[in-house]
Amino acid sequence: MIYFIGAGPGAADLITVKGKELLERADLIIYAGSLVNKKLLEYAKPSCTIMDSAAMTLEEVIAAMVPVAQEGKLVVRLHTGDPSVYGAHREQMDLLRSYNLDFEIVPGVSSFMAAAAALKAEYTLPNVSQSVIITRMEGRTGVPDKQRIADYAAHNATMVIFLSSGLTEKLQKELISGGYSPETPAAIVYKASWPGEEKVMRCTVGTIDATAKENGISNLALITVGGFLGSEYERSELYNPTFAHGFREADASKLDVKPGK
Ligand code: SAH
Repeated sequence: MIYFIGAGPGAADLITVKGKELLERADLIIYAGSLVNKKLLEYAKPSCTIMDSAAMTLEEVIAAMVPVAQEGKLVVRLHTGDPSVYGAHREQMDLLRSYNLDFEIVPGVSSFMAAAAALKAEYTLPNVSQSVIITRMEGRTGVPDKQRIADYAAHNATMVIFLSSGLTEKLQKELISGGYSPETPAAIVYKASWPGEEKVMRCTVGTIDATAKENGISNLALITVGGFLGSEYERSELYNPTFAHGFREADASKLDVKPGK
C-alpha cells in the first residue's frame, strides 16, 4: 500500500497520529527534503529505506515506489503541510493508477493554518472577511487567466499567498492595483511552527516588500493580507446571547455573564 501523508507545517509533533503510525511501519519513505522536518524521519524503523525527493524527478519517484509497493510493502510519500495544497501529488496518483496500484491520502496541517496560529488570528471574521483566498504569484509556474493576484485583491477578502516571498515587489504592486489600500494590514510568517525558527513580521500591504527585504526573507514564508489582521470586527451570532439557534434559546440577560458569576 502507498500512503501520501501530510507532514504538517514543520514542528515534528504537528503530524497526525495516523501519519506518525504509518511512518513507524513504512518500508520506504520518500520525503520532500526542502520543506519536511527531518526530525519526522526519526519515527522510521531501522530497516526503512529513506529517500529525499528534492533531487528526484516525478518519474524517478514513481520508479522508486512501484516495485516496493508491488512486493506488498508499505510506501510513504511524505509531503509538507497538506498534500492538496501545491503538493504536486495529483500527477503521482495518476501514474500509480496506471500501474494499478492503490493509495490513500492522510491529510496534514497546512502551513496556512500554522501561520494563523502564529499570528493568533482568525481568517474568517464576521463583517470583515468570510472567505480565504489561497493563491500564489506567477513564477516559473504560470497562473491561469482571471486568477492573478490583482483579480483576487478586488474582493478585499483574506488572502494567503504561498510560494511568493521572493517576489514581494511585484506582489505588493499587484495587491494595490487590484484594490487593497496600501494601509491594509498584512503579515509575513516565516517557517510557521518550526521550533526556534518561526518569525512573524506584521506590516501593511504598502510595506510588504520592504519588510521582506529588511528581514532577508525570500523563501519558506507565507504572506497574509486583509482586515482580519486589524482590530475591527463584529462578534459572532453563534455565541451571541441574543441569537437563538437549534441548541440554545435567545436570552439577552446572559450578556451579563462574567467569570465567577
Ligand atoms: N503543501 C504545503 C505547501 C507546499 S508549497 C502546505 O500545505 O503548507 C511550499 C510553500 O508553502 C513555501 O514556499 C511557503 O510559501 C509555504 N510554506 C510551507 N511551509 C511553511 C511554513 N512552515 N511557514 C511558512 N510558509 C510555509
